[in-house]
Amino acid sequence: MQNIKEIRLILGDQLNIQHSWFEEIDAKVLFVLMEIKAESEYVRHHIQKIVGIFKAMRHFADELRQKGHQVVYYHINATQNTQSFKGNLIKLIEQYHPTHLAFQEPDEYRLDQLLREVFTSFDLPFQVHSSEHFYTKRDELATFFEGKKLYLMESFYRNMRKKHQVLMESSSQPISGQWNYDKDNRKKLPKKHIPPPAHLFQHQVDDIVDAIQEMDIPSIGTIDTSSFIWCTTRKEALQLFDYFLDYLYPYFGTYQDALSEHYWSIYHSRISFALNIKLISPKEIVDRAEAYWSKHQEAVSLSQAEGFIRQILGWREYMRGIYWAKMPDYASLNFFNNQGKLPAFFWTGNTKMACMRKAIGQSLKYAYAHHIQRLMVTGNFCSIAGIHPDEVDAWYLGIYIDAFDWVELTNTRGMSQYADGGVVATKPYVSSGAYINKMSDHCANCHYNYKLKTGEKACPFNSLYWHFIQRNEAKLSSNRRMSMMYALWRKMNEDDKIALLNQADDYLEHMEEL
Ligand code: FAD
Ligand code: SF4
Repeated sequence: MQNIKEIRLILGDQLNIQHSWFEEIDAKVLFVLMEIKAESEYVRHHIQKIVGIFKAMRHFADELRQKGHQVVYYHINATQNTQSFKGNLIKLIEQYHPTHLAFQEPDEYRLDQLLREVFTSFDLPFQVHSSEHFYTKRDELATFFEGKKLYLMESFYRNMRKKHQVLMESSSQPISGQWNYDKDNRKKLPKKHIPPPAHLFQHQVDDIVDAIQEMDIPSIGTIDTSSFIWCTTRKEALQLFDYFLDYLYPYFGTYQDALSEHYWSIYHSRISFALNIKLISPKEIVDRAEAYWSKHQEAVSLSQAEGFIRQILGWREYMRGIYWAKMPDYASLNFFNNQGKLPAFFWTGNTKMACMRKAIGQSLKYAYAHHIQRLMVTGNFCSIAGIHPDEVDAWYLGIYIDAFDWVELTNTRGMSQYADGGVVATKPYVSSGAYINKMSDHCANCHYNYKLKTGEKACPFNSLYWHFIQRNEAKLSSNRRMSMMYALWRKMNEDDKIALLNQADDYLEHMEEL
């Protein structure tokens, strides 16, 4: 490799082969990908997450080489790897004497700061390019809500539908006249209903796991090294999404809030990992989902299509916009001043609570839980148990294969923990055991009884819920969406209140034993 004029850095979540960078083959441009130890261990990640990212990066580098691009790849255990972006770049600059450098906008605030600092430290001009992945620019949401107190997802979403003409009848009217079908989409799985199996890949990943172990990178969760299940190439991401369209899409919306003791991904697409490392783009997903619905309306109703498209065109872009509008302060918000520590069962799944055992157990096994498990089981538990949002964030960021700061933080600290005091959610997502029983078959298998509020077998979600309501009264009672719960609490007789609070105190004191 001689006469390199430009070095371009590609991060592990920037595997977008359709990026304009790759349109032309230029022997004077050198692409660089690096597996960096510090990036793999700044929180304890699930082993499948580290393996999935490294494997996808390695495939991506091979694909670039096959197309004729110049590529340098730093394996995690390579002797020449200095284990820092700066160290490796210094060596490359010394070796190739480029005239300029470039990188794509990182999606994570910390990395954005770090790369700007590193690139500024070289005596060379550099350019920051768009990752060409999202529908929206970083500051688009902040501009849309300028001067507004509330950042309502629904108004952002409707604007996105209009702007990008998705599921629209005219430039301003949605197909069928209705914007949102959320109310139709809240069903429990019927007793004998069997969802199609999850579409799993079977990759051999011993070499990557060996390298991770050689480098002493700490991790959580388990992995089957002869049968790694996640997609790591664009081709596989497209296969996974085609499977979703043919088999899961018809019931996606109907059962998107369902919780199950027997099935771990139900009708969910499991496309988030492929999306977040940019193997596939949100526009491709939305366009394909809309086209499929349009062609197969007898199999996929509008409520399924709208329910799915809202997650990508609405929630995903909205969360990214909130992140860039509110960082860096957002990462330290703690509206309730929670100080609790996560109990050890978050790393083992050993708990008597059946719903938590399932959500945590499958997270350790697959690095995945679906939205309602994250929000209404583990997230709900953390909120009502008063766990510090730093602890909650670190766990979510580590355990899920799709967890990247911009989307994990806004979902966890914002939507789930209400630590932002109501920027993302209009009220805290907390519930007693009754909600979990309504949406699942967990309670029938549980040591606890969802109907009991006090006593040895009382469902912990019940008393902890009321404890949450009582201890946060000053902060929440003026919230109109909480007024019914505060009216109920005030009407409750004093003895019942005391019994509930004592029960909750006891559970909080013995949280490790729950
Ligand atoms: P599906 O249910 O099939 O949905 C399709 C797609 O919609 C997802 O792949 C995702 O890209 C998008 N989507 C759906 N809901 C959201 C949302 N609230 N925010 C952003 N995108 C959304 N998602 C992540 O990608 N990374 C995270 O780290 C993450 N952490 C979360 C933490 C908590 C506490 C909660 C409540 C949610 C979190 N989510 C996160 C959002 C959501 O749970 C996941 O996107 C989803 O479970 C991924 O599985 P799936 O691909 O099967 O999703
Ligand atoms: Fe979860 Fe309570 Fe139901 Fe047990 S009884 S599964 S802890 S909601």
